[in-house]
Amino acid sequence: MKLNIPLFCKHDYEFDSTIHGDMIIHMGYNRSIWKCSKCGKYTQRKAYINKDKQKDLLRLKKMKKLGLA
Ligand SMILES: [Zn+2]
Repeated sequence: MKLNIPLFCKHDYEFDSTIHGDMIIHMGYNRSIWKCSKCGKYTQRKAYINKDKQKDLLRLKKMKKLGLA
C-alpha cells in the first residue's frame, strides 16, 4: 500500500507557524501557516493564532504524533 500520495490526500492540516510583520503582506494578508500531517503540503490561513492557541495546537500535534489524540 502506498502512502503520502498528495493527489488523493484529504489533508489534515496542523498549525505550523505564525506569520509576522511584513511577511503578512507578502503572504497575501494571511496570518498563519499550516502543514498537512499526511502529505506535507503547506497552506496559509487568515486566522491569527495567539500564543495560548499556539501552545494548545502544538501540544495536540505532539500528542497525535505519539498516538495519544
Ligand atoms: Zn495532505
